[in-house]
Amino acid sequence: MANKLIYFFGKSKTDGSGDMKALLGGKGANLAQMTKIGLPVPSGFTITTEVCVNYYKNGRKYPAELASEMEKAVKWLEKESGKKFGDVKNPLLVSVRSGARDSMPGMMDTILNLGLNDAATEGLANATKNPRFAWDSYRRFIQMYGDVVMGVQKKNENDHEPFEEVMDGLKHEAKVKEDTELTAEHLQELVKRYKKLIKERTGKAFPTEPMKQLEGAVQAVFGSWMNERAILYRQKYRIPDEWGTAVNVQGMVFGNMGEDCATGVAFTRDPANGENVFYGEYLVNAQGEDVVAGVRTPLKISDMAKDKILGPAYKELVEVRKTLERNFGDVQDFEFTIENKKLYMLQTRHGKRTALAYVKIAHDMVKEKLMTPEHAIKSGDPEALNQLLQPIFDTKAYDKAKKDGRLMAVGLPAGPGAASGSVVFTAGKAEELAAKGQHVVLARIETSPEDLRGMIAADGILTARGGVSSHAALVARQMGKVCVAGAGDIEIDYHKGVLKCKGVTLKEGDPISINGTTGEVFHGKIDTADSELKQVLVGKTLKPKDSKVFQYYDFIMKLADKYRTLGLRTNADQPDQVLNAVAFGAEGIGLCRTEHMFFEGDRIIAVRQMILAKSEDARKSALAKLLPYQQKDFEGIFRALDGLPACVRLLDPPLHEFLPQSDNKKGQEEVAKQLGTTVAEVAKMVNELHEFNPMLGFRGCRLGIIRPEITEMQARAIFQAAVTVLKEGVKVKPEVMVPLVGFKRELDLQVEIVHRVAAEVMKASGKKFAYSVGTMIEVPRGAITADEIAETAEFFSFGTNDLTQTALGMSRDDSGSFLPAYQGLEIIKANPFASIDRGGVGQLMKIGVEKGRSTRNDLKIGICGEHGGDPSSVEFCHMIGLNYVSCSPFRVPIARLAAAQAALRHPANAPTAKVIKDGKAAKGATKSKTVSKR
Ligand code: PEP
Ligand code: MG
Repeated sequence: MANKLIYFFGKSKTDGSGDMKALLGGKGANLAQMTKIGLPVPSGFTITTEVCVNYYKNGRKYPAELASEMEKAVKWLEKESGKKFGDVKNPLLVSVRSGARDSMPGMMDTILNLGLNDAATEGLANATKNPRFAWDSYRRFIQMYGDVVMGVQKKNENDHEPFEEVMDGLKHEAKVKEDTELTAEHLQELVKRYKKLIKERTGKAFPTEPMKQLEGAVQAVFGSWMNERAILYRQKYRIPDEWGTAVNVQGMVFGNMGEDCATGVAFTRDPANGENVFYGEYLVNAQGEDVVAGVRTPLKISDMAKDKILGPAYKELVEVRKTLERNFGDVQDFEFTIENKKLYMLQTRHGKRTALAYVKIAHDMVKEKLMTPEHAIKSGDPEALNQLLQPIFDTKAYDKAKKDGRLMAVGLPAGPGAASGSVVFTAGKAEELAAKGQHVVLARIETSPEDLRGMIAADGILTARGGVSSHAALVARQMGKVCVAGAGDIEIDYHKGVLKCKGVTLKEGDPISINGTTGEVFHGKIDTADSELKQVLVGKTLKPKDSKVFQYYDFIMKLADKYRTLGLRTNADQPDQVLNAVAFGAEGIGLCRTEHMFFEGDRIIAVRQMILAKSEDARKSALAKLLPYQQKDFEGIFRALDGLPACVRLLDPPLHEFLPQSDNKKGQEEVAKQLGTTVAEVAKMVNELHEFNPMLGFRGCRLGIIRPEITEMQARAIFQAAVTVLKEGVKVKPEVMVPLVGFKRELDLQVEIVHRVAAEVMKASGKKFAYSVGTMIEVPRGAITADEIAETAEFFSFGTNDLTQTALGMSRDDSGSFLPAYQGLEIIKANPFASIDRGGVGQLMKIGVEKGRSTRNDLKIGICGEHGGDPSSVEFCHMIGLNYVSCSPFRVPIARLAAAQAALRHPANAPTAKVIKDGKAAKGATKSKTVSKR
């Protein structure tokens, strides 16, 4: 490898900086940055992510020069620290930690105290005059190394940690309860037993040569990039495998050398609710892993202020808190150690936070001028905004539960929201019940990365041990799960499968309810209610001025609107859906699926009459019955839109979807009765309409071409509705959209009908109205011949559900049987029906955009497939110059933020066409003739 493999950070030199996250990983880059700004960071070096990437590219082989570079780096560190690797007098000890570009909490492995062997432990005992500390460090090192590098781990979920088991045995023999009560001699004995355990389990001796230890540790860190939980984590958060991880090797400082030592983690603000308070916890006389692992319940950081010995270090921490926010421009989540009263910073990163904390922190820090508005937008996770719509407890049910004395315990509020469901004690059970559609709360003594699958499946997470920085709390916060952590009054017995608290015993499957906003745990079910945001925007039962949450959310959304160039529409076919979407920020309808309206009330009877009609006349008379219904539907929608554009799609699904199928004889009998015909007649029609491949059959524009009277009725309903509301003084912008077009001529035939009907309605009503006719691009031929189609189409909308189905030749309804396996095998990175397959479907879209605009340079182009609400797809739509995305009403906030992020990430890719946004034309844009003509 030609590039530099190792970057240093320390007193004598610092090669990296905070903006080098891609190469040094988040941890490495920030260690360099902290060193640069003068914070007390122990010296060390970072092996780059490129080494990891190359390691996997070259069949798990390191670059030839890595070993010698590492040796040089260790020499530098020895000089820097004045200590020596493996020295019997003053040994250098290091920590080895992974560090990917984005932090992956608890996902990768860490090793501390590396460099210890029997001789060095004696050396450390002498140097510190503290044999107990030295032997404790050594046993911790063997334990971590044995687990992470040599693979001595528990064999199943309910097994005990093998090293813990050995330690418990010794504690029992020594008749002590706490680890801290073990003497130096005990720990020396423990080291022996640990080594024996390793030998028994692996057949190998524990390595004593520090350089060998380091090589093993580095290898393990790189190896952990591909472990199951890291892969799962990356899949969930869409972190590319190609990024790789860096390895950070850093001189050790000790928080476990006595009562004037401590270790802790802190956030510069509360990551659960965003409050501007110093938030964190620490343990006296402990190492970092003790805090994160949740084994001992730590003290609140504010308690340190009163500590006689650690008080001065607390003052320093308060200053560090300010320095970090000022320098990093965001809330920081940092780790520190106090060694003999001296503070050291071990890492910092942007703190993961709940959506509630995100909107509050962004709002506050922008106003405090600590965060740039751009960062406020960039740092949000659009998908997480869903959390703001998550339920809270129904007030009445909640009050009653409290009155009835069902409150069992109060833990730490680690993930806001309310969850109620069956209690389960293993991740496996959580997955099993969730797969059956049940709501579950996963209760564990403490969670570990192995529980990740269960945590994803559960509605809520409850732990008996651990603080706000425990694994459960970190992961819940990131996933947006409701979580109560460290509810110490609860006892969980995995073997008996019960949870006990204050005389109440819950078996697996019993109902439990947790409030992640307050930390309360109740037995029994408690009904849930709408979130504050929904109450303001949807139910309108809460006034904006009475909801802080709404105000923070609104601040972010308005900021997002400043940056985004994509327009936002919604897929809606009912007035209430439209109102919701508009409240969330939609600027029009991008897809109104008219077929949904056919199922309402008793109009399905007329639809069926139309399908079963033997002649054109009979069909027309059935359609005549449908016309007033459709017209009323459109009137309601136009009124709700109040002048915003409405893209209405003509009938699309195969007709058999409107009839009971052959396995539903009872349904067919009912239809026969409704229509005054025989069951045999209905069955015959069902038979005739049967298709082997209905998705590729008689549907889309094919329906309107073979049965033009359907198109005619729908066009008439749209235009007559337009005239009615125009007469009421409400503006309308109807856009008629023809589905599944692959040939220009298909569109021509449909457009002809629409224009004729429009002229007839204008003539009959004496009222002129603006409208446009366009098409969906949802089959590959449509995209490839987009230049021809654009001669007729006044707009395009990508139907990426069908375009994905037809481009990949994968049924959108049947691909569930193999897609998960495809993802596992990395044939595909993400579900292409959820997130645009950029390399395939995306290229067709690009062709469609380029060809379409080669004919009509102001062609308005949107997307209305499910992808319109997926952040990554929204980004792609921005990149290829679409004018708008359309998604379901409740995803509008997500798309709104994602669109702003895309604009900030790709400023050059804003649409080049003249029509930019619906409702508000972008600066310098001329009004499109396609919207206002006729
Ligand atoms: C599409 O195919 O993307 C689309 C929006 O249409 P539908 O889902 O109704 O087929
Ligand atoms: Mg479609």
